Amino acid sequence: MFKKVLIANRGEIALRIQRACRELGIKSVVVYSEADRDAKYVRLADEAVCIGPAPSAQSYLSMPAIIATAEVTDAEAIHPGYGFLSENADFAERVERSGFTFIGPTPESIRMMGDKVSAKQAMIRAGVPCVPGSEGALPEDPKEIIKIARSVGYPVIIKAAGGGGGRGMRVVHTEAALVHAVQTTRAEAGAAFGNPEVYMEKFLENPRHVEIQILADTHKNAVWLGERDCSMQRRHQKIIEEAPAPGIPRRNIEKVGERCAAACKKMGYRGAGTFEFLYENGEFYFIEMNTRVQVEHPVTELVTGIDIVQQQIKIAAGEKLPFTQRQIEMRGHAIECRINAEDPVKFIPSPGRITMWHPPGGPGVRVDSHAYTNYFVPPNYDSMIGKIIVHGDTREQALARMRIALSETVVEGIQTNIPLHRELMADAKFIEGGTSIHYLEGWMAAHKR
Ligand code: ADP
Repeated sequence: MFKKVLIANRGEIALRIQRACRELGIKSVVVYSEADRDAKYVRLADEAVCIGPAPSAQSYLSMPAIIATAEVTDAEAIHPGYGFLSENADFAERVERSGFTFIGPTPESIRMMGDKVSAKQAMIRAGVPCVPGSEGALPEDPKEIIKIARSVGYPVIIKAAGGGGGRGMRVVHTEAALVHAVQTTRAEAGAAFGNPEVYMEKFLENPRHVEIQILADTHKNAVWLGERDCSMQRRHQKIIEEAPAPGIPRRNIEKVGERCAAACKKMGYRGAGTFEFLYENGEFYFIEMNTRVQVEHPVTELVTGIDIVQQQIKIAAGEKLPFTQRQIEMRGHAIECRINAEDPVKFIPSPGRITMWHPPGGPGVRVDSHAYTNYFVPPNYDSMIGKIIVHGDTREQALARMRIALSETVVEGIQTNIPLHRELMADAKFIEGGTSIHYLEGWMAAHKR
């Protein structure tokens, strides 16, 4: 096992990784920007190194600064968390070339999954169900594009091969709009992602977002740890996640979960990963794979009892998975609410000083957050300041616990989306379960938001 791990991230996930290291008896080094000098995980760190000013490009995205810090602190491995450099294949490559272990998949896996066209092709080869669409990147010839759209059937969605974060997508309803839409998406994708390649998929009108968590070691073992329903989204950003996904027959989920684990073995994948699917009319359709730990991993930890971050570290150290698929049991129900520093009505970020922070507690309640009373939320980064996660024997109990947890939570000095979460936990359709990815935006329009 490693003696020292460098955490190349910030916020709640830096604290989460630090806790996992401590439990494994590993010392950790955190890197931080000038804006994060007073962060909790910096104060709690075994070692902390300031690597640059607030802008991410000069700190959390600076590969030379991070690798140089690993060198001077004698860290053996680097955990990239999520966001920032976590899905950057060049970074993974540079980490390994510099003699450190990258806590994540190989650069080849990251690269293959980072290009959505090659990811989809790999999934088709591995027998993972995908959204019907073009076989690969769209050709130049407009006539060919029209032919493909006709065979897929309208509406279609044009997506950038290099896209991410909900950007680089365009829905097309009619043939008249098709060729222009492809050209515009290509131009935008070239400018935004440095890759003008686009592909086409059937646009699913009312799907749910259901994802499968996997873990794979370097000894040819791969398991799936159940699913998460992340359909409660605004502008493709998830705000509530839960496990298991309400109302989906277990047999259907098992079938897709087994395919995902088999695909990992086939690809020689290692580490934690998530297969994201759209789910509609009883069918799963792969959309992308994330080759890192997800924000919403705690809901899976609560229902399986498996510490995903510790497993990532153990896998990177060459250990075998300590359980087989048959030993993994899902127990009860877990729900996560992401707490964002933002105006709950207008959704504009609300950075600043937190004058009062009182997190909830009690049975089945977990809070993953780096915030505290007097903490200053910097304006430079993502607005998420923490997550409240609850576990109950049933979904009803989890919902009740989340309502209580939200009612106990006090955050003063800045605005948060807690009022929105309180309303959603009392919403009849959400309580029923199984709402689609469009539900929240429809709900906000109906509530004049
Ligand atoms: P990103 O990497 O940008 O997150 P994804 O491929 O994961 O892109 O898609 C993001 C979101 O876009 C999905 O969660 C879904 O809301 C929507 N989306 C993507 N593909 C389709 C599709 N074929 N039909 C309907 N909605 C889609």
